[in-house]
Amino acid sequence: MSDVIYLDAQGTERPRPEAVEMIHRCLTTDFGNPSATAHRTGQRSLSILESARATVASVLNASADGIVFCSGATEANNTALRSFVRDGTKLIASAIEHKSVLEPGVLIASSSDTIKFETCTVGEGGTVDLDDLAGRLGDGPALVSVMHANNEVGTIQPIAEIAALCRARGALLHVDAAQTVGKLPVDFTGLGVDMMTISGHKFGGPVGSGALIMRPDLIDHLDPLIVGGGQESGLRGGTVPVAMIAGMAAGLEAAHRDQMSDHSRIQRLRDILVDGLSDLPGFFINGDHDARLTCNFSGGFLGIDAALIMRSIPDVHFSAGSACTTGTAASHVLTAMGVSRDHQKSTMRISLSWMTTEDDIMALIEKLRRCVAARERRLVA
Ligand code: PMP
Repeated sequence: MSDVIYLDAQGTERPRPEAVEMIHRCLTTDFGNPSATAHRTGQRSLSILESARATVASVLNASADGIVFCSGATEANNTALRSFVRDGTKLIASAIEHKSVLEPGVLIASSSDTIKFETCTVGEGGTVDLDDLAGRLGDGPALVSVMHANNEVGTIQPIAEIAALCRARGALLHVDAAQTVGKLPVDFTGLGVDMMTISGHKFGGPVGSGALIMRPDLIDHLDPLIVGGGQESGLRGGTVPVAMIAGMAAGLEAAHRDQMSDHSRIQRLRDILVDGLSDLPGFFINGDHDARLTCNFSGGFLGIDAALIMRSIPDVHFSAGSACTTGTAASHVLTAMGVSRDHQKSTMRISLSWMTTEDDIMALIEKLRRCVAARERRLVA
């Protein structure tokens, strides 16, 4: 993999050394079952588990009592929706949510005539239309689910404003923060949200780790997806994977420690990338370039298929559209933002990582410039 330029960090971030080290420790020395507290091996694992919970709570300014560990953002999103969308509830999600919100939303709504599921619109910049959201909130119980930042275009939603709106209208707010935790300062309590989803592999923890973070007074209302064994206070059955959870917490701590320096370094590299491409014919960027994660570039060269570019430069690993939506031709995110099919076909999602270097970006610019020049030559010939 050493000659590969990895630019798909929003799909999966490279695990941080601290996470790998912790996982190694938990799989070699401290490998116990944290429920087996009758002996020291189990007690040590329980203590690692609870210390991971305390770390996650402290980094995100949440209460440790409101954290339920699970396998990732898909499970956390499903759990949040299934628990808080009951008979008579209106579920409102933004049209650009991840499929792990939209698909359970449709499924839950199809289970009862009294449950309504609506999507609120986003502008062409890729942020939620607050007037549209306000107009959809009625008098009855409602759950609003809005992602903190989008996985395809990286646009950041005004969560504090949405939280204030939801509070004023008596609605609960769930935020899928899979794409922001580790990249931006995320203050669960300060944002005033009711539930938040996190995913370890988006910030340098292992794939297969995540959590649903909740206001502790809501936890009794949680309806577990998996029961049996009583783990996680009966809220998520199955032997607790301490290695994954502790690895996630170690990755989160490292990401948090390096956040400011990574943020400005990555922003500089992304700006170099955009400057190095913007004079090329057909160059475009999707959505609001400023209100987005610094790690994200979503755009391309109109008339050149992103899939063709991917095939032409196989040693650069990025994605066409979103890595999370496999096998679908059109992107529901770009479609909701009003991006034409032609622009969608040409869209590359290039996402920078904590380990991306200036050499990587300069090499990518060079390769992309060559791809565009080759196409121009074919057009002239
Ligand atoms: N939500 C968002 C915003 C995501 O980007 C992803 C992963 N692409 C998910 C949910 C699903 O995450 P996981 O792989 O942890 O299930």
